[in-house]
Amino acid sequence: MTRLFSERFLHALEPDELRLLETTRRLCRERIGPDADAVAREDTFAAGTFRLLVEHRIVATAFPRRFGGSEARQRLRIRLVEELGRVCSAAASLVTGADLSCRAIVAGASEAVQDQLLPALCEGRLQAAFALTEPGAGSDVRNLATVAVRAGEGYRVSGRKKFITRANVADWFVVVARCRDEQAPAGASPDDPFVALLIPRDTPGLTAGPAVDKLGWFGVPIAELAFDGVAVDARWRLGAEGEGFALAQDALVRARLGHASMALGRAMGAVEIAAAYCCERDVFGKPLGAHQGVQWMLADAITQIEASRALVDAAAASYDRGDADAAVQASMAKMHATDLGMKVCTDALQLTGGRGYLKAFPLERFFRDAKLNQIGEGSSEVHRTVIGRDAVRRAGEASLERHPCLPAGKLTTDF
Ligand SMILES: Cc1cc2nc3c(=O)[nH]c(=O)nc-3n(C[C@H](O)[C@H](O)[C@H](O)COP(=O)(O)OP(=O)(O)OC[C@H]3O[C@@H](n4cnc5c(N)ncnc54)[C@H](O)[C@@H]3O)c2cc1C
Repeated sequence: MTRLFSERFLHALEPDELRLLETTRRLCRERIGPDADAVAREDTFAAGTFRLLVEHRIVATAFPRRFGGSEARQRLRIRLVEELGRVCSAAASLVTGADLSCRAIVAGASEAVQDQLLPALCEGRLQAAFALTEPGAGSDVRNLATVAVRAGEGYRVSGRKKFITRANVADWFVVVARCRDEQAPAGASPDDPFVALLIPRDTPGLTAGPAVDKLGWFGVPIAELAFDGVAVDARWRLGAEGEGFALAQDALVRARLGHASMALGRAMGAVEIAAAYCCERDVFGKPLGAHQGVQWMLADAITQIEASRALVDAAAASYDRGDADAAVQASMAKMHATDLGMKVCTDALQLTGGRGYLKAFPLERFFRDAKLNQIGEGSSEVHRTVIGRDAVRRAGEASLERHPCLPAGKLTTDF
């Protein structure tokens, strides 16, 4: 079977990685794709899809081998998420979300806690959610107001978290808060170190609100969390006090690669659907796809998607190598792929006319789902800021190679 999009990225994969990709493609063809519309009609947790992804060891790619996982390279994971995103955002999100919520446990929990939780999380017997965002801290994420007050052998957590994916099904929450002493004045201060804590769902004082109605991404509901003096033993701390933000950031870098590949997968699917319509639909005496204007739209979409896939692949390889600039590369990949994904889904819907606007036609769902990738895990504006700030910082470094066309001396005084 041939595909509309290039298979060249598969050359970078090992035989066992290709086998898992082939399994994922088969699942998408036979189960996840055909079921996607039903999953997206109701915003309840897509338990059946999750079980399938666990059973076929796609969720396991996020976990170390010691805990039953396959510790996949990001270069493989982006291909898997792309395949899932091509048919069903919920399925793709379940795979990226498992990584986001478990990464800090992999990186920061004690050995005993890892042994207790990670095998069950890998097998889907337990689920975790990642709780960072708050009513007053979204893009400006350092503005957290949730506090973890040191108390005896642990902490008492108070505050609120907003938009938390799987909040109504997770057994455990990874919660990032500001750490402080009991005697300190009430409220969080920017000097308080960040701390990441694992909190079980049934802890007294912790309540999850009802699922919140949203535009898309059905199958992965979100809800708020409230913490009212929730007691947490120090054994559930991830990393040391002060490392909470860094642990969250590592998880977010991986999640950004996931958002990027999910957005591109969906964009690829949207173009495939629009192209199929263009071949079947006749307008003004010939197929829609025979009109030059339509061909140009398809050409732009396909070319830009292929360019963006190369950027995402390079960012994933950068993460796998542990490059110092892997986080900025992930920001570029996420910003480019998700903005492009929104544009391509909009254009694909336009190409399918009134049918594209119908709920029964998949592009309406693709169009709604595309928006979230531009907002979650750092919006496009936030990543633009990160990339721009990094560029200006590097441009000002004394060690930066000066452009050969510039003479020595000060640019402002010598010209
Ligand atoms: C479906 C869904 C699932 C989510 N899942 C989770 C989860 O599991 N865990 C979690 O912790 N969070 C989650 N989030 C939260 C998500 O990460 C935040 O919504 C996101 O980071 C943006 O924060 P905000 O919504 O508070 O937007 P705001 O911070 O209010 O920003 C509003 C707008 O202003 C723009 N903006 C901000 N700063 C600037 C600037 N300097 N210049 C120009 N523009 C700017 C932003 O880009 C954005 O478009 C989820 C959100 C949604 C909608």
